[in-house]
Amino acid sequence: MVFEYAPAPESRSVVEIKPSYGLFIDGEFVDAAGRFKTANPATEEVLADVGEADASDVDRAVAAARRAYERVWGPMPGRERAKYLYRIARIVQERARELAVLETLDNGKPIRESRDVDLPLVAAHFFYYAGWADKLAYAGFGPDPKPLGVAGQVIPWNFPLLMLAWKIAPALACGNTVVLKPAETTPLTALAFAEICQQADLPPGVVNIVTGAGDTGRALVEHPGVDKVAFTGSTEVGKQIARSVAGSRKRVTLELGGKAANIVFDDAPIDQAVEGIVNGIFFNQGHVCCAGSRLLVQESIADDLLESLKRRMALLRVGDPLDKNTDVGAINSRAQLDRIRALSEVGDAEGAQRWSAPCPLPDRGFWFAPTIFTGVSQAHRIAREEIFGPVLSVLTFRTPAEAVEKANNTPYGLSAGIWSDKGSRILAIADRLRAGVVWANTFNKFDPTSPFGGYKESGYGREGGRHGLEAYLAH
Ligand code: NAP
Ligand code: MG
Repeated sequence: MVFEYAPAPESRSVVEIKPSYGLFIDGEFVDAAGRFKTANPATEEVLADVGEADASDVDRAVAAARRAYERVWGPMPGRERAKYLYRIARIVQERARELAVLETLDNGKPIRESRDVDLPLVAAHFFYYAGWADKLAYAGFGPDPKPLGVAGQVIPWNFPLLMLAWKIAPALACGNTVVLKPAETTPLTALAFAEICQQADLPPGVVNIVTGAGDTGRALVEHPGVDKVAFTGSTEVGKQIARSVAGSRKRVTLELGGKAANIVFDDAPIDQAVEGIVNGIFFNQGHVCCAGSRLLVQESIADDLLESLKRRMALLRVGDPLDKNTDVGAINSRAQLDRIRALSEVGDAEGAQRWSAPCPLPDRGFWFAPTIFTGVSQAHRIAREEIFGPVLSVLTFRTPAEAVEKANNTPYGLSAGIWSDKGSRILAIADRLRAGVVWANTFNKFDPTSPFGGYKESGYGREGGRHGLEAYLAH
């Protein structure tokens, strides 16, 4: 029996979106060289007009960050910096509902996720790194580690405010100042964060937000006044950035793509594994760098597991992201929808079998039904390339050794999942997986105390935890 749900829309009136925004430089909103618009991907409605920073705007922002670093933030004792970070964390909590609605409007993710996952984690990151600001001498990076200076940070659209928190919280805790560029399609929560910096009386220039597209990001990364580059995004752009900073004194961390294996053994608790598979690939519409996009299932249980998985997928509620019942929201942009469609067509052409959940999709906006491909082989492009959407490729294995070999057969190495009843098996397999994070009998669990990052083409450097401080300290 399928339950009918009455709509339970979250109110949009908790957030006031201005018709137009400038750049946030030196503590103030200022005009930009150009303008662009950001839209709600669930309705295609334009939400606001936003400033597009050119190289001279970026230059102003870097200069403001430099002044703030030298005069105020760098010399400030860690215990004083901590107070600002705690204040920011508390304001984020106080404004959590408004920020969650804004994130959902600009990004398309379900309110249930922005409210229950993104926003609590954003606040947790600021609280966690606030706690480090006066204890850096005990972090294991020498008795008196120093900040690097000005950090240029570029982030993607899948977790806009959370990626901002991952970047800004450790940078500020260590005494650096920042210039951050949010993604073109999701600038609004970063601009709301700029208001929070004003509300927290953060000294001008410590945080600067320059909105824009790829060219703005390039101008920031290539600016000679930047001491440290932190990038999260695609492997392709990550490689360009690595090339552009090579030979300079800039320090770099790159958090790039993934094609994670989610491995289900025959002794796994099947119902829990099905929930974990669904969470692994359909959470945030699959726009997750560490998504469990390759399901490796032991052959003896594959038929049963796939039957349960399809039954569960048929119950996913796809639609209005502001509805509290919604499980799967809108694809973030038309460009991303086109990429998902194109790679799925490659899957068909290569001979894999497509099955999509039989859900009605809204007429307007960008949507893709939760989909699985079976009969996938390792040579197929849908088994090798990141789709970054709600599309799961299913492969099978017979022995643990085969599972490990297939799991590691990827240019990426960001995350993996293992489902088994046996602790000893989980530990033995986890040891052999070349992935930054390995989840056991769970998936997509994040915590500010835990380092996160990849091997191989998933990038280098770690964010989160004590390890995350290292990227922002000279030692
Ligand atoms: P993307 O095209 O690489 O964009 C990421 C950011 O870089 C955006 O702000 C983008 O601006 C900017 N950018 C584009 N070209 C640039 C250039 N030449 N120089 C400097 N900045 C530039 O990636 P995306 O498609 O938005 O994001 C999806 C990718 O991010 C996926 O591959 C995913 O796996 C990865 N990701 C990784 C992690 C992680 O932690 N490892 C987390 C989330 C996402 P625009 O907005 O204008 O494009
Ligand atoms: Mg948008």
